[in-house]
Amino acid sequence: MSDFSAEDKEELKQRLKSVRRRVARACERAGREPDEVCLIAVSKTHPVEALAVLYEEGVRDFGESYVQEWLEKKQGLPEDIRWHFIGRLQSNKARFVVEEGVALVHSLDRRSLAKSLARRSDEPVDVLIQVDISGEETKGGVPEGELLTFFDYLQTLPDIRVRGLMTMPPYADDGEESRPYFKRLNVLLEDVRRHCATHQLSRDSLKILSMGMTHDFEVAIEEGATDVRVGTALFGERKSQ
Ligand SMILES: *Cc1c(COP(=O)(O)O)cnc(C)c1O
Repeated sequence: MSDFSAEDKEELKQRLKSVRRRVARACERAGREPDEVCLIAVSKTHPVEALAVLYEEGVRDFGESYVQEWLEKKQGLPEDIRWHFIGRLQSNKARFVVEEGVALVHSLDRRSLAKSLARRSDEPVDVLIQVDISGEETKGGVPEGELLTFFDYLQTLPDIRVRGLMTMPPYADDGEESRPYFKRLNVLLEDVRRHCATHQLSRDSLKILSMGMTHDFEVAIEEGATDVRVGTALFGERKSQ
């Protein structure tokens, strides 16, 4: 157990309040309803106790990046949490993600991983395609020029259900610098939806735009994000591992 004091608890609650207020204000500016945006609490590296505090305050969506860490934390937490897998996923760990019931994989970016996920599941796995808009290969993602081809490939795997797109712009202190990337992801989602319409594929459930982190989630909401992935603004700085 980590030492987790009453003050830590109070601080977390205040941070959550503040982030929720900022989400609501960004929605207001964009003429959107706050319930159109899902706040995912990115809890990687933070202790179970911290997640439990946010759970008590009504948070049900948590994001994790490391399979082993997630499996350990999940044990000690309620079952109605929706777990989002947002990190790079090795194909050989795909089965844990499926078997342990992740709600949404945000980081699907290659065929081998799609195949591993599909092979392991009895029920469809909900995924987002991670798109590399910046050309910064270190972050992963399908190059935007290959998005439709990759999407078509996924249609051949009945157990994979594409729910939308995810991206990570290059880091900049000023969140405004992410705006062109967010606009672009929104356009790409429309492209995929149009593609579905032309090919008689269902697009009803294809509407998630996962974009925006601590430094740029308000900009992302203004540009149409349906899921924002916020870690530091909720939990404080991560200690480097
Ligand atoms: C860690 C992480 C986040 C959260 O980042 P913060 O800057 O702490 O909000 C969001 N998305 C992904 C993919 C991450 O790995």
